[in-house]
Amino acid sequence: MARIGFYPGSFDPITYGHLDIIARSARIVDKLVIGIGTHPGKKALLSSDERLSLIATACKPVTEHTGLRISAVPFDGLAVDAAKAAQASVIIRGLRDATDFDYEVQMAQMNGALAPELETVFLAASPATRMIASSLVRQIAGMGGDTSLFLPAESRAAVEKALKQLKS
Ligand code: ADP
Repeated sequence: MARIGFYPGSFDPITYGHLDIIARSARIVDKLVIGIGTHPGKKALLSSDERLSLIATACKPVTEHTGLRISAVPFDGLAVDAAKAAQASVIIRGLRDATDFDYEVQMAQMNGALAPELETVFLAASPATRMIASSLVRQIAGMGGDTSLFLPAESRAAVEKALKQLKS
């Protein structure tokens, strides 16, 4: 039976850091469902449709190289409910630093209490992409900085367009 993983996050936008975790999850699961969390209280820069489309484009080469089947869905409730709806048996998360660790372990334990049938698997960020955070990348782009080291071209263009619209 194919093992399905669920990778939740905001992906506002998808970065090379996310792509590192997605590509490496091919060693753990046969299919990965990326869950785009849409919280009514949390204003995202990009719409969930834009984030879906950027994920689809950015993940194509990963599927070509690894064979990992990848899809993306928006969700606005609990990650465990979205993971179950995706028929996943594992939740995949990336760990960058101690701040991620503290938050992620607590979250994994809460999720484990809510849904004991789901296992959370952490992948340590790769050294080359460890420093990338979508929020910082959005700030850098907002100040006119070069984000090409952090974002695939389509993510970069979408962020620049959205920031321009915000300013106009
Ligand atoms: P961000 O914190 O960049 O806004 P998300 O909220 O979309 O990212 O995070 C989704 C998941 O991806 C989390 O498990 C987060 O720790 C992980 N992640 C984000 N950026 C990186 C990175 N550069 N390297 C490894 N994992 C990452």
